[in-house]
Amino acid sequence: PGTRKYTGMVEDCCCDYETVDAINEEVLHPILQELVTLPFFRYFKVKLWCDCPFWPDDGMCRLRDCSVCECPENEFPEPFKKPYSGLSPDSMICQEGKPQATVDRTLDAKVFKGWIETDNPWTYDDETDNVAEKNIISAEMTYVNLQLNPERYTGYTGDSARRIWDSVYKENCPKYPSEEMCQEKKVLYKLISGLHSSISVHIAYDYLLDESANLWGHNLPLLYDRVLKYPERVQNLYFTYLFVLRAVTKAADYLEQAEYNTGNPEEDLKTQSLVKQLLYNPKLRSACPLPFDEAKLWQGENGPELKQEIQKQFRNISAIMDCVGCEKCRLWGKLQVLGLGTALKILFSVDGENHLNQSLQLQRNEVIALVNLLNRLSESVNFVHEKGPSIEDVIKQQ
Ligand code: FAD
Repeated sequence: PGTRKYTGMVEDCCCDYETVDAINEEVLHPILQELVTLPFFRYFKVKLWCDCPFWPDDGMCRLRDCSVCECPENEFPEPFKKPYSGLSPDSMICQEGKPQATVDRTLDAKVFKGWIETDNPWTYDDETDNVAEKNIISAEMTYVNLQLNPERYTGYTGDSARRIWDSVYKENCPKYPSEEMCQEKKVLYKLISGLHSSISVHIAYDYLLDESANLWGHNLPLLYDRVLKYPERVQNLYFTYLFVLRAVTKAADYLEQAEYNTGNPEEDLKTQSLVKQLLYNPKLRSACPLPFDEAKLWQGENGPELKQEIQKQFRNISAIMDCVGCEKCRLWGKLQVLGLGTALKILFSVDGENHLNQSLQLQRNEVIALVNLLNRLSESVNFVHEKGPSIEDVIKQQ
């Protein structure tokens, strides 16, 4: 067995590499792997045919495998088809003058109030207040069974893919030069770089090794060339994993109370139980109680302006996902950026206050994206941990 290359604390986080690998392997990875196969988490709502707001679509996908198969109407869960049940009309009416108004709302332990349509200031959605436009957008959305459309090698390369990554890095989160850049901008860069590493790891994990024989398998040289050779890319992968994990555990009350109803009581009970195991796992809680400390950010004088600036940059990154010229890459790009946007929303809650429980409201699709993103990152950490040391040894011997 090879020797461990990464030791000590994950940069800017609160857990060390050994602990992350251990809790991921023993606890989180097995739970997440099962969770994402259950009906609630396997259907993602997405608008795949989108107009790129920045340049003409120049789809460059070599493999047929690049396209996504959408779910037929009868496949996805019945409750997902209904309009959001949302808040009961009563809870939306001003409580003033009613007996309930005397109750201190800070003691309200019920934080989940039904799935609702709610804006996310961190992501680019087709925002419109016009009801007719809302209906058109909603008609263009389809459900995709994520289990049938795994993130893997698609043959999407060349100028089109390069242009997306270039604009994400150059326009929105230029690589931080030494210590000049503030902590918050560094976080945005690291989240994007960590996601990029994870996408590369999935390409290496599930690669078309022989096209004529349709033989798929691991491409370890690719894993090394694109990720392992650059320690910073590995560090950013671990950082992003811990950041998203912190968001999930911070929203524990909300996620525990959320409705995981898909019309299949047996599967839904399993979903609820696995969510609880994920949120309140004693091993995780004792080994890595605070995977990332968000309270350290936005403390400077210009915190609010800085947050708005970074929010705008992240929204741009989210909009650029509509320009990804391969359907399957666009699906996973959109899902994972929505997952990151959801983590940002949870950690730096909507109004910037720390009263998370009072203001947090998530859409069903945001929760689906968040958990699937955590699973993808967990898979990447697992693969890097498993294969990293042995590849490094082979390279050293060459
Ligand atoms: P790229 O991965 O395109 O990298 C471009 C440049 O970015 C590199 O030269 C380097 O300077 C820098 N860079 C690379 N990694 C990092 C990092 N972790 N941190 C910081 N900087 C970095 N292809 C598939 O086969 N399957 C997919 O599912 C898929 N999904 C994609 C999703 C999105 C959103 C995008 C934009 C692309 C996707 N692609 C996918 C394409 C894939 O990411 C690569 O762009 C493609 O394989 C070409 O790789 P490359 O070697 O040219 O380097």
